[in-house]
Amino acid sequence: MVIADEKVVSIHYKLTSDDGQVIQESAAGEPLSYIHGAGNIVLGLESALSGKSGGDKLKVSVNPEQGYGPRNDALIQELPRKMFEGIDDIQEGMQFQAQSEQGTQVITVTNVDGDRITVDGNHPLAGQVLNFEVEVDSVRDASAEEIAHGHVHKEV
Ligand code: ZN
Repeated sequence: MVIADEKVVSIHYKLTSDDGQVIQESAAGEPLSYIHGAGNIVLGLESALSGKSGGDKLKVSVNPEQGYGPRNDALIQELPRKMFEGIDDIQEGMQFQAQSEQGTQVITVTNVDGDRITVDGNHPLAGQVLNFEVEVDSVRDASAEEIAHGHVHKEV
């Protein structure tokens, strides 16, 4: 079966940065499953997988425009500590989820200086070239319910 919209695709993958660091990879024997065409994975990888089928292997470099977007300095903000009410120990590297027009956004604390907390709303992988090594494990039709929900259900 060939990968096209409304197919459930399972892939093994490894994602590395341009300097060769492994950023993410699927666990051994546990491929990642997604619905093709539903925006479950980054656009550049989804396009590269169109037309492939089970057993195919590919390497694809996705630029930020087709990945997690360019870095945007306007998303770096300095906030007063009182905005973090209820969090006693704010530390560099902590991440929070915030709702925005683009959906769920991850905010990372990048600096703590007394009462001033610097946060970065860029996706941690924004501005990076994403180098994927992918092997297609399987392809099947998505069920009507999966298509309606926009995500994969566990196989019965
Ligand atoms: Zn569901």
